[in-house]
Amino acid sequence: YLTLEKLRKAYGKHVVIPEIDLELEAGEFVCLVGPSGSGKSTLLRMIAGLESISGGRVTVAGADITGTDPSDRDMAMVFQSYALYPHMTVRDNMSFALRMRNEDKALIQERVAEAVEMLDLHGLEDRKPSALSGGQRQRVAMGRCIVRKPKLFLFDEPLSNLDAKLRTATRHQIRRLHDQLGATSIFVTHDQVEAMTMADRIALLDHGEVMQIGTPQELYLNPKNRFTAGFLGSPE
Ligand code: ATP
Ligand code: MG
Repeated sequence: YLTLEKLRKAYGKHVVIPEIDLELEAGEFVCLVGPSGSGKSTLLRMIAGLESISGGRVTVAGADITGTDPSDRDMAMVFQSYALYPHMTVRDNMSFALRMRNEDKALIQERVAEAVEMLDLHGLEDRKPSALSGGQRQRVAMGRCIVRKPKLFLFDEPLSNLDAKLRTATRHQIRRLHDQLGATSIFVTHDQVEAMTMADRIALLDHGEVMQIGTPQELYLNPKNRFTAGFLGSPE
């Protein structure tokens, strides 16, 4: 569904991603892990069109989207810092993208109601973000994305500001949402447990290269080298 071909990124002489080839099946949930500075965020931003690419192509459902406008891409990026509009209610935050597109009022209402249901935000629709907990805010941020029903999600460590208990709960919620929407997702995380429990496949990135990609079991039981072993593998 999503294909990266010879994707490359350099800032001047500084090569961040020499060349990446990666293919995600429709419906797949792939966790992207790797050390700080290995290029995870850069990769997501290139897929989203928020960062220019230095070479290669990005294809979604067979269509080359390299160089298209980010707002024309049928995908949603969810960050760690969820910038909600502070002066708007939860409902208005969630419906913002659809209102900008002048969508039909009934459709907007329906999509927001669906998102509220999926994200368990009942009763909070008229609150401002300042009156929400961190976890609730993160869910509203998710809600803002899912009202558009994107087919591709790019998550950049969305849970790292949450406490342990909330992380676990939200982890399951995200995976369930992904399944319900029939989406394809890349989920960047530093958390081993998160990657092991959420992913269909895990891709391990180092210095902008995919060191290994496989199911959680494959990486855990058969790490290709010490680097993978150190990251995810069983203790030696
Ligand atoms: P983290 O786990 O810390 O979030 P990451 O894997 O997401 O790390 P990136 O943010 O993608 O890493 O950064 C990859 C490399 O690109 C780093 O060496 C970073 O310094 C470099 N980099 C990122 N943005 C720029 C920029 N605008 N100009 C120059 N170098 C940059
Ligand atoms: Mg990052």
